[in-house]
Amino acid sequence: MCACCPGNDAGNVPDLPQGQCGTPGILRATRALIRLDHLAENIVLVKQKTGAALCMPVKANAYGHGALPVAGAALAAGAEYLAVATLEEGRELRKGGIDAPVMLLSIALPEEIDGIIAAGLEPFAGDAEYIDALEGRAARAGKKCAVHLKIDTGMGRIGCTPGQALSLAARIAASRNLLLAGTATHLAVSDSPVPEDRAFTERQLDIFRGTVEGIKTAGIDPGLVHAANTGAVTFYNDSWFDMVRPGILLYGYSPEDSQGKPVMAVKPLMELSSSLVFIKELRRGETVSYGRTWTAPEDTLIGTLPVGYADGLSRRLSGRWDVYAGSGKEGSLRPLAGRICMDQCMVDLGKDSGARRWDRVSVFGGKAPHAGIMAARLGTIPYEITCGISPRVPRLYLA
Ligand SMILES: *Cc1c(COP(=O)(O)O)cnc(C)c1O
Repeated sequence: MCACCPGNDAGNVPDLPQGQCGTPGILRATRALIRLDHLAENIVLVKQKTGAALCMPVKANAYGHGALPVAGAALAAGAEYLAVATLEEGRELRKGGIDAPVMLLSIALPEEIDGIIAAGLEPFAGDAEYIDALEGRAARAGKKCAVHLKIDTGMGRIGCTPGQALSLAARIAASRNLLLAGTATHLAVSDSPVPEDRAFTERQLDIFRGTVEGIKTAGIDPGLVHAANTGAVTFYNDSWFDMVRPGILLYGYSPEDSQGKPVMAVKPLMELSSSLVFIKELRRGETVSYGRTWTAPEDTLIGTLPVGYADGLSRRLSGRWDVYAGSGKEGSLRPLAGRICMDQCMVDLGKDSGARRWDRVSVFGGKAPHAGIMAARLGTIPYEITCGISPRVPRLYLA
């Protein structure tokens, strides 16, 4: 069953397992397969571990996976909250019929506040000016706006100082058109097993705990208390409070322990898949792609994939990545050959791989190494890989 387009069959995607569906219309060869069944499993794992309410971050088009299908599947699997970074992202959810609570994690412009209130988003706020603007616009609209007080305990991004928190909480609690729906902080190094980073995170959590206690002692209800991102869900049992907000973990990428082993048994949602649209023989000494950086060491077969850096396949992977080519037990990992172009790249299939024209190829995920491994190869993080898959790549949802 398709999460986004019920009733569509998978006739145009014969490689999909039985019972799984496709996006309507003819798809181009290159597509991102999104395993919503993996998302549901990851959510169950996190809920079982933390026993807390769950906020699913769907900012940046759900880290590139597609905001609406991911939000719908996350709520169906038990998430209580969603989180976005911009007003527009929040509006997209509302237009898509989602009425679950949605937090707005970034600070918006004053002129966006009417939109925030109209969409019923729950903004993070950490200063009097912004809180008063929210109160003023909510009063004018005759609505109540739920706010999450954001306390900066060491991230250095947004939020009030711990010392300001009590008076701001009181300000929100006393206002007629605001509701203190939550009190939150964000952790800077919770995914790191290094001792100095552990000490820093413990200090952030201590400050946060003490500040929340102060709010409670003053007789103010802090609402939902939440702090835990992916690293904190993984490593800090005392960070879970009322709700957790892990993002990349739910998309299937776990922090690693000091041995470099993933700690949580989550499954990646995204596979970037393409197809061998052209195969040719190359003789020893012939070259492939711009700059002629790759020369055939012997006679071989070169396959062409219609995926390139404009799709989000970094050009810096040229000559540094293997894709999984071929189907079933005949498939194998084969190296990219030559420079990755804007819309295409080439793979050295070797002489006896058995790969045939139109065969599916996993570029990352699926039978190929996942986006986290690709990220490590590039000296970046999996977020940047999945967020970087461009809009021209159709997303295909498997539930
Ligand atoms: C993005 C974000 C998260 C999720 O972070 P991950 O590292 O993906 O777990 C949680 N909280 C806030 C405030 C965020 O901006």
